[in-house]
Amino acid sequence: MAPNPHTLSHTLPPTVPAASGAATSWPRRRVLQAGLAVGPAAWLAGCASITGQARPQVVVVGAGWGGLGAVRALAAEKAADIVLVEPNDRFMSCPMSGHYVATTGKLEELLHGYERVDALPGVRRVRDRVQAIERDRREVVLASGQRLRYDYLVLSPGIEYMEESLPGFAAAREALPVGFRAFEHQAVRAQVERFLAQGGTFVMSAPKPPYRCPPAPYERAMLIAEQVKKRGVRGKIVFLDANAAPTPAPTAQPILGALKAYADVIDYRAGVELQAVDAGRRTLQTSAGELRFDHANLVLPMRAHALVRQAGLGQRWADVELPTFQAKADARIFVIGDAQGSPQPKSGQVAFGQGRAVGEEIARRLRGEAAPAPKGEIELPLGICWAATSHDEAINVNVVTTMAPGEAPKLRFTVDPQPSARSGAASWGWARGVWRAMLG
Ligand SMILES: Cc1cc2nc3c(=O)[nH]c(=O)nc-3n(C[C@H](O)[C@H](O)[C@H](O)COP(=O)(O)OP(=O)(O)OC[C@H]3O[C@@H](n4cnc5c(N)ncnc54)[C@H](O)[C@@H]3O)c2cc1C
Repeated sequence: MAPNPHTLSHTLPPTVPAASGAATSWPRRRVLQAGLAVGPAAWLAGCASITGQARPQVVVVGAGWGGLGAVRALAAEKAADIVLVEPNDRFMSCPMSGHYVATTGKLEELLHGYERVDALPGVRRVRDRVQAIERDRREVVLASGQRLRYDYLVLSPGIEYMEESLPGFAAAREALPVGFRAFEHQAVRAQVERFLAQGGTFVMSAPKPPYRCPPAPYERAMLIAEQVKKRGVRGKIVFLDANAAPTPAPTAQPILGALKAYADVIDYRAGVELQAVDAGRRTLQTSAGELRFDHANLVLPMRAHALVRQAGLGQRWADVELPTFQAKADARIFVIGDAQGSPQPKSGQVAFGQGRAVGEEIARRLRGEAAPAPKGEIELPLGICWAATSHDEAINVNVVTTMAPGEAPKLRFTVDPQPSARSGAASWGWARGVWRAMLG
């Protein structure tokens, strides 16, 4: 498609400021006074659109935690038409999936429809997959061949597994589901059911960070071990941790303490790296020697979705300006959620908060408003995470990220010293509340 000549005057000037603006944390919305630079104000005034439409168009890639945050904020601001691209027709939550995988939870609890998102003003959902981003034309190319032009693009496509880090894995992908992305949980549950029925050795693992939701591999192991004990299964879990202790460091002692309750089922081995897998012979080569397994749930190292590299926005993770989450390589693109490389935790709560902040930032830019003047330390979106240690107990992990002008972000953790039923119940309250905020 040729560029619309009426839109050329709205292309970016060559010296667009790298970053600017306000960000908000969620659920406690607060205006953050950041402003690392002056906003790209005047030339956008009047909401002119490069797409040739009367209103500007924002394309959001991925209707997961980050994408839905952006869509909700953009719809509330009414500053643009929003096109949300997502291949799945329903949302499935990774948070709380441990209960389903370990057979105590129901799949329906994780599944939610997009009907209420579709009903938001100005939102059009396209069920398709983005195949490429053509930054020079400001277009995304869909698997169907359709092209979508954008004034701003929000990318929240999540992660992919670094399969090449484990020789033998790619050939056996179907037999070794990782289950750290939506719609993969069913395959992991099927494996867990086989293990609980047959017993034997179940090898599980945690990679080196950064990866999505660091407490989740330990959570999954403990929830499965609880069922092994409850049902008297003749089986054990060998847990291979590539780290010297559970990460991040503030969670290590509470998680190691919780693992003690399962010492008769979980053989926790720290500092062991996976080197190769042979799914046919059911053997693993590790830095501590060869291991035979009957069942395996290997959590591989992760990186941003391939679109980030295809679009030249970063290598392992997208390079972004903080606190705006604007791509360093392109002032028209924001990358949020687990695909971006800030030190913030890779968590759904954080992704949703980043999405909301970015939606508000784009609306501000489209209105031609200047960025607020910088005024001291700011707070980036809050992280709330849960490590269930049994069907009714959990450890709560909260992460506050602050940033002083010109300095790197600082993370402050608050972690339950031990599991409690109070945090177990609170985790479900949190999940239902945030699912409602995203999809209700
Ligand atoms: C077991 C487990 C437990 C967890 N527990 C917690 C917790 O307690 N608290 C917490 O805050 N977080 C938790 N998380 C982390 C949380 O799930 C992620 O941080 C969150 O999903 C990141 O959001 P995202 O938007 O970056 O990616 P996602 O939510 O994965 O969304 C990405 C979306 O992009 C879509 N997509 C992919 N490719 C394309 C394409 N080419 N075109 C269009 N769309 C595409 C996908 O279908 C998906 O819907 C947990 C994760 C796991 C695995």
